[in-house]
Amino acid sequence: EPKPLNLKDYIREVPDFPKPGILFYDISTLIRSADAWQVATGRLARIISAWQPDILAGIESRGFLTAAPLAQRLGCGFTMLRKPGKLPGKTISLKYGLEYGEDELHIQEDAIKSGQRVVVLDDLLATGGTLAASVNLLRKVGAEVVGASVLIELAALKGREKLDIPLNSLITYE
Ligand code: IMP
Repeated sequence: EPKPLNLKDYIREVPDFPKPGILFYDISTLIRSADAWQVATGRLARIISAWQPDILAGIESRGFLTAAPLAQRLGCGFTMLRKPGKLPGKTISLKYGLEYGEDELHIQEDAIKSGQRVVVLDDLLATGGTLAASVNLLRKVGAEVVGASVLIELAALKGREKLDIPLNSLITYE
């Protein structure tokens, strides 16, 4: 890295999105900057390669943005955790609670070979419900989940405490 670059400067905070009262952390402004995106993916590559994964799993849809290019760069496979109705063939699914209502993620039952080392990626960790469910889903199809990685962690929500694997975040909000 030629000069230190503060990734937080590239996150846009959008009030009242998607609902009134919610402050949304928007990574669009980070990924559209060639310099900042290069720095972010470089840091992710260093952290994730230390876990020696075989497969990177991306959570729909912003988890795909980091997982797919990093898989190529690290010589790993890439697999998708998706919303219902998107994946063909036989899938395994898990429902998980949200602040209001519930959500569901699917994975193809043959996505992972038993014992493969998997790192799971998303854009942001809030309560940790999405990542915790993703780890459980990956285990159901035989993965050894060796780490989780997000661009942004909202530390006050203590999502990290819901995970029993190492979690790395590039940007933290207290
Ligand atoms: P959690 O399950 O409460 O940890 O919420 C994390 C999930 O919600 C991730 O899949 C995020 O993409 C999404 N999410 C929640 N808040 C934000 C935000 O402020 N910006 C971007 N994504 C968010």
